[in-house]
Amino acid sequence: MRTETLDPLQSPPPAIGPAEAEEIANRIFGIAGLLTRLPSERDLNFRLDDGHGRSFLLKLQNPADGTAVVEMQTEAILHVALHEPTLPVMRIVPTRDGEHWAEVPGEDGRISLARLFTFLEGHNPATEELDPNALRDWGATVARLGRALRGFFHPAAGYPILWDIRRAPALRPMVSYLRDEPRRALVEHVLDRFESNVAPVLGRLRAQVIHNDMSLDNVLVDARGSITGITDFGDMTHTALVCDLAVALSDVLDGRPDSLEVAGAMIEGYGSVTPLEDDEVPVLADLVATRSAIAIVISAWRLHLYPENAAYVSTFGDGAWRLLEIFEAEGFDRVGRRFEEARRPRTLPYSSAPSDELLARRRRVMGRAPLSYRRPVHVVRAEGTWMFDAAGRRYLDAYNNVPVVGHGHPRVVEAVAAQARLLNSNTRYLHEGAVELAERLLASMPGGTRFDRVLFVNSGSEANDVAWRIARSVTGGSGAIVSEFAYHGMTEATADLSPEEWPPGSTPAHVALMPAPDGYRGRYRREEPGWAERYGAEVAAAATALEGRDTGLAAMFVDSAFTSDGILCPPPGYLREAARGVRQAGGLLVADEVQAGYGRFGDVLWSFQASGIAPDLVTTGKPMGNGFPVAAILTRSDLVDGFAERTGFFSTFGGNPVACAAGLAVLEVIEDEGLMANAAEVGAHLRAGLTELASRHELIGDVRGKGLLVGVELVVDRSTRQPASGEADTVVNDLLARGVLIGVTGPAENVLKIRPPLVFTAAEADLLVSALDEALSSPGR
Ligand code: PMP
Repeated sequence: MRTETLDPLQSPPPAIGPAEAEEIANRIFGIAGLLTRLPSERDLNFRLDDGHGRSFLLKLQNPADGTAVVEMQTEAILHVALHEPTLPVMRIVPTRDGEHWAEVPGEDGRISLARLFTFLEGHNPATEELDPNALRDWGATVARLGRALRGFFHPAAGYPILWDIRRAPALRPMVSYLRDEPRRALVEHVLDRFESNVAPVLGRLRAQVIHNDMSLDNVLVDARGSITGITDFGDMTHTALVCDLAVALSDVLDGRPDSLEVAGAMIEGYGSVTPLEDDEVPVLADLVATRSAIAIVISAWRLHLYPENAAYVSTFGDGAWRLLEIFEAEGFDRVGRRFEEARRPRTLPYSSAPSDELLARRRRVMGRAPLSYRRPVHVVRAEGTWMFDAAGRRYLDAYNNVPVVGHGHPRVVEAVAAQARLLNSNTRYLHEGAVELAERLLASMPGGTRFDRVLFVNSGSEANDVAWRIARSVTGGSGAIVSEFAYHGMTEATADLSPEEWPPGSTPAHVALMPAPDGYRGRYRREEPGWAERYGAEVAAAATALEGRDTGLAAMFVDSAFTSDGILCPPPGYLREAARGVRQAGGLLVADEVQAGYGRFGDVLWSFQASGIAPDLVTTGKPMGNGFPVAAILTRSDLVDGFAERTGFFSTFGGNPVACAAGLAVLEVIEDEGLMANAAEVGAHLRAGLTELASRHELIGDVRGKGLLVGVELVVDRSTRQPASGEADTVVNDLLARGVLIGVTGPAENVLKIRPPLVFTAAEADLLVSALDEALSSPGR
């Protein structure tokens, strides 16, 4: 009878000498040859060369390993060979009797199981030999082995083994074998973290039988670092699958100085075969640390048990110590975030760069192209209303209108990816995407517009540029009216329509300005009845000014939220009056919905709808593809068909299949997720919170806006309403430091611009308000 103990580590290797081993090979397996002893933690391993070019591994199992455990290992090897035959796993050589093993007695009477395998060529690498490619391959191999074992089970996989990371708390009593006080404290800290961070979630991680020891000692590589063999199935157990990766990270990195830099390669390689799940990623770093702590504690304990084996046993601890010290120096949480970063698939065709270096490189090749914030933010990913920087910090995004349905919305991402895979081309072909998107957009317009035509382009500037060409061609006029600080684009024509961008003193002769309908600080104030209509009537005056310059009016361009003028959102009377003035002067009304459209105003898709007017042209862009470039002009056939025929209007990318897939998915999400109603509701909640802040902070002169387009005007003095421009800049940067993204707008740059994705929640609005409260209260302001 074999003796079975729960812990094979307490049992010394078999007491069998080389001569007996040779005899065993010959008698049991029928193979005579030269034996060479190989290192092993608790078994006796020999290389057996039969002199005819064949090599084998003779394994004399630790007597403490029950038959069941050996049977499990054997079946697992057979299972892997069957289901993943390309994995370099040793093959089992049967005994003369056709069995997978035979019992052999040692000098001390204990019984061992003798097994023979094919010998795998290669060498156990030192960690420094493994470059990131080799580590990626290692990670992928760990994952492939895990996948091969996915359907495998054996009752012995339930026997507890100390190398199962899950059982780390059982090692507590052995920590006392660590003599060095600070080191003991470090191991205790790792075990404390395991108990608080890992243990509570382990039970819900996917679990299976895993190899559990893809270490430097158990994997063979060739001269190039490619894996040629996986050798030791002795630590297999049923546990959390992610432990396989944690073990490999801990043992293969072996505390090399660049451990944290190269760990990502192994995590990526693993994820390329078996993507890590959301619950696994946050515990990975603690699992790695715990595995290192286990190696340290078991080594100390075994050293205590078998002092004569010191040379072999003590090699376990060193790399584990180095790795723990690296983790401690970096901070365990930061290591966790770095591992989380590495989970992202690196199929991306650029390599990540440190933020400072990236800024310098950007300046070198892109000059002074503007960057938001005093200290530019190096963003690496985003999800919903949250953006994440390269250091793993997250920011509540209360600024970006492009990702209108939230960053990385899965329905949009999938639509874009699926269409890109299937087809993308120029737009001179028949395709459902453009037609359906055009139909959907036209159907979204109020009946009064009588819109029946859509032209697709790629940006808001292009949409306005084309709208301008249409207006000139239809009216024969060449004059434009825009608001005092409008922005309508960056092409030559639209830059002329964008006084926000005009160099000082240069007013294009064909453009007349109308005052922005600012009821807070402008010439007509909200307190005066009919103030908005009065602003509207200014359009007629602007048209008269154009006549004086011998330029007939072609069009007025209006962003009905007056975003660049300071977010004004006048009441409906304004646009009605303005539209009347434009028509009287023979011009067309272009509603620029690039900012305020797509549901931002709440309840309706298009901001002009709030006024009940019917523009002649509507332009849209930014939010249309949730980040994929797509823009459009919507109008009537009587206005556009002649123009289109005369010019043969065509845009190569405009309305391409991928852009339209994005556009359609965005419209569906806005509809299905009720985002227009959300914008109205959360916007009202947000303004209420901000209005409450205004009652406590003198700096806030005005809170205004509509839906999820909100302006907070800061003033130095509420009675003079002198703009607090510098303060606004400070507040925006202070909010950034508090993890909230907003911007500034307005001619005096004193209006906080709040314009989040429409999936913004009331709780996130509260978070923004309280961060702003703190920023306004901070003495350093
Ligand atoms: N119109 C308005 C109202 C805008 O805000 C912008 C962009 N800020 C544009 C047009 C131009 O759009 P794009 O940058 O896509 O060319």
